[in-house]
Amino acid sequence: MNQYTQEHARSYYAASAHGMAQFPGLTADLEADVCVIGGGFTGINTAIELAQCGLSVILLEGRRIGWGASGRNGGQLIRGIGHDVSGFAKHIGAEGVRYLERAGIESVELVGRRIREHGIDCDLRWGFCELANTPAQFAGLASEYAALKESGYAHETRLVEPGQVRTHVVNSGVYAGGLVDMGSGHLHPLNLVLGEARLASSLGVQIFEQSPVLELIHGDTVQVRCAGGTVRAGSLVLACNAHLEELEPKLSGKVLPAGSYIIATEPLSADVAAQLIPHNLALCDQKVGLDYYRLSADRRLLFGGACHYSGRDPRDITAYMRPQMLKVFPQLANVRIDYQWGGKIGITANRFPQVGRLRQHPNVFYAQGYSGHGLNVTHWCAKLLGEAIQAGHSKGFDVFSAVPHMTFPGGRALRSPLLALGMLWYRMREVLG
Ligand SMILES: Cc1cc2nc3c(=O)[nH]c(=O)nc-3n(C[C@H](O)[C@H](O)[C@H](O)COP(=O)(O)OP(=O)(O)OC[C@H]3O[C@@H](n4cnc5c(N)ncnc54)[C@H](O)[C@@H]3O)c2cc1C
Repeated sequence: MNQYTQEHARSYYAASAHGMAQFPGLTADLEADVCVIGGGFTGINTAIELAQCGLSVILLEGRRIGWGASGRNGGQLIRGIGHDVSGFAKHIGAEGVRYLERAGIESVELVGRRIREHGIDCDLRWGFCELANTPAQFAGLASEYAALKESGYAHETRLVEPGQVRTHVVNSGVYAGGLVDMGSGHLHPLNLVLGEARLASSLGVQIFEQSPVLELIHGDTVQVRCAGGTVRAGSLVLACNAHLEELEPKLSGKVLPAGSYIIATEPLSADVAAQLIPHNLALCDQKVGLDYYRLSADRRLLFGGACHYSGRDPRDITAYMRPQMLKVFPQLANVRIDYQWGGKIGITANRFPQVGRLRQHPNVFYAQGYSGHGLNVTHWCAKLLGEAIQAGHSKGFDVFSAVPHMTFPGGRALRSPLLALGMLWYRMREVLG
């Protein structure tokens, strides 16, 4: 099944979306202060930030709002930037590292606030547990727990000993402990981005769907050409993430698309769901190509995993993912799988998101490459893009953009195979212990 038609993937999310937005295609030449390309969390939230400052904004989405990773992901809203940021001290100093640590927490609160203040109905539930697959990983979680306590993290956290995992967190025998964080959680991502698009539209953002951008003509006024018309704008935001392809050659090669896949079971009975995940937490382990899963509002198990760099999706996602699910939950052997889908994660060489502006064309801004941890970070980066464009400077923007944006080696043809080989090496190390 081809996951990448012009319409939404046939996911559980698309099947349970509230009032799927229908925006027109671009059929005229228009002007705005800012043109945003990409209708995922990055693009929509940047448009919101800019419109709230009084700028006129046109947003162009090639397919549908939320068509990309934003409408397909695991829905796990997890504290952090998705990376141990201390390694970047040589680029951003100790203060920069502290800023990123704070941003990793405040970005989750930002999403929570947006949902609450605008009444976006997206099944937000608080509570997440990071799981250890090995005793060494559990020791790592114990250190993380101690560091959180010491930092004064405001939300409840709990270290779960190996013997308590089944009864307290998840009814599976494969884990060596966990760390519960009640300041992280889970939600329905497509309903979030659709709600945010409605908010953007109500703030005056002109949104166009089914309007792929074909060409950029740079200059003091940038021209953004679609088949049905051209947008002229003083600034441009590229928010295309893993789907940028060759639209902006200066950024191609900095983000690689990697496939990740999710299956959704039939709705489970209240008893079975409560036995499986007693406190309805989001869960994620630490394997290379990790497993991530949670219950939906109608008590389906949404089980995701894998990270494919080959560019080839499994022909049958259920056949591929179901055995992974049964390794964790053998008790679900007779449960039906109702939905299967995949999406493209934008991976960067150092696994840190890239936020910046083009040196040659300083009116072109971008944020991309969240490396599988984008739900909160997209919202934060959108805030930074909004500040940088509206006020001309942003301390947070400068910190993010000071971390190097590396280009993958190998050129267009060899990048993915080289990375696939690298990941195979990590997997072999994991299997060999
Ligand atoms: C299967 C999966 C599971 C994930 N799970 C989680 C999770 O549980 N928690 C978490 O924090 N993160 C998760 N992520 C990562 C997270 O979803 C992403 O980091 C985030 O959604 C990126 O948002 P974005 O707006 O930058 O990109 P996207 O949502 O991918 O949006 C980019 C948009 O740009 C559009 N576009 C591209 N080119 C053009 C063009 N030329 N013209 C017009 N439009 C264009 C595309 O059509 C697309 O809609 C997951 C990702 C995947 C794929």
